[in-house]
Amino acid sequence: MSRLDPVFADALDALSAGTMRRHLRVSGLQEPGWVVRDGRRLLNVSANDYLGLGRHPALIARGAEWAARHGTGAGASRLVTGTLDLHRRVEQRLASFKGCEAALLFASGWQTNASVLPALFKAVPGTALVFSDRLNHASLHHGCLAAGARQIRFRHNDLDHLDALLDARAGEPGARFILTESVFSMDGDRADVVRLAAIARRHHAFLYLDEAHATGVLGPQGRGLSAGVDGIDCVMGTFSKAFGGFGAYVAGSRLLCDYLLNTCSGFIHTTALPPSVLGAIDAALDLVPGMDAERAHLARQADRLRSALHALGIGTAGSSSQIVPAILGGAEGALAASAALEECGVLGVAIRPPTVPRGGSRIRFALSAVHDEAAIDHLIAVLPHCLAAGAPRLAAGAPWLPAEAPWLPAEAR
Ligand SMILES: *Cc1c(COP(=O)(O)O)cnc(C)c1O
Repeated sequence: MSRLDPVFADALDALSAGTMRRHLRVSGLQEPGWVVRDGRRLLNVSANDYLGLGRHPALIARGAEWAARHGTGAGASRLVTGTLDLHRRVEQRLASFKGCEAALLFASGWQTNASVLPALFKAVPGTALVFSDRLNHASLHHGCLAAGARQIRFRHNDLDHLDALLDARAGEPGARFILTESVFSMDGDRADVVRLAAIARRHHAFLYLDEAHATGVLGPQGRGLSAGVDGIDCVMGTFSKAFGGFGAYVAGSRLLCDYLLNTCSGFIHTTALPPSVLGAIDAALDLVPGMDAERAHLARQADRLRSALHALGIGTAGSSSQIVPAILGGAEGALAASAALEECGVLGVAIRPPTVPRGGSRIRFALSAVHDEAAIDHLIAVLPHCLAAGAPRLAAGAPWLPAEAPWLPAEAR
């Protein structure tokens, strides 16, 4: 019993009333691309393990080997005794993977955005002018909030709008920052990174790019959409998605990394990444550049899924990546569609406000290269029935019920 329990209960009731209450559910992840929930095996099209590396034997082996050799914890923060030769090795390999002078490891992507942005804004005199894409990830917002920086929001992925907002403030003092993602986490669309760099150059703005969903998946050899593009000041990404592990990085100039290790609270006041996590990253760095076939397969399956959704009249926002949202509108509809998918052997989690804007509730399909054609065939086959549960206009035309579908796993019939 805590003193604030009645307050917590009221807050939770309010969330329940608005279908916004969330619950934790346990998932079994024995098999790449699949998940076990309540004893049922479901096609996992809701995770970010885009290359299936989360169960790769090479990552498991090196993680275990480095833990056996160096222990389970780094024991201290990087600036005390936590920096091992393993951290230096991974940072050097990462800098060359990203084509940057230097890289710095962080505990997580959230922690990176939340703590690097305040350190950057502190570096410049006066008030920073921060231009943010409206759909930026919560951690980027958090970094701005933590810094007390007011954001000037540009319409999602609308670089004309960004350019106009920068022009409109041209006479104001203060350093300019542009914060955006190269692949957006909920819409699966891409930013035009080359044009962003040109805009940043013209307005002398510092360009900060979040590559959480592009790292490992897009760009030459999976190096991200920033690869080979000049004029991006700071790139961040995570190892928790396509890299199948955990942790995050910042890549950029040597002075940027040196500045951050001296000033960034989220780097200084936290324990260094442990050897097992570093081992998994190191093994992923061996594999990712050579996974072009997997990346091409993933892109083909995402194209098939988008076509199938469009044929049903369901929008996929600007998706052109492995993230394919099926936009359903209302939160209740998205929850109903998600429940129907689960009945049909597919884990498609409903994403609702505040993660996405009101009226933008959706199933966020996130495919993995380990999903073969047959798995995606199954997903496409159940879509008309399952999405009818969330999109009333489809309901009348839903051609069949799952009981009539011979390709369903027995337990779902
Ligand atoms: C997932 C995500 C993060 C956070 O990364 P974690 O390593 O999971 O904390 C940051 N930015 C974007 C765009 C993300 O999707």
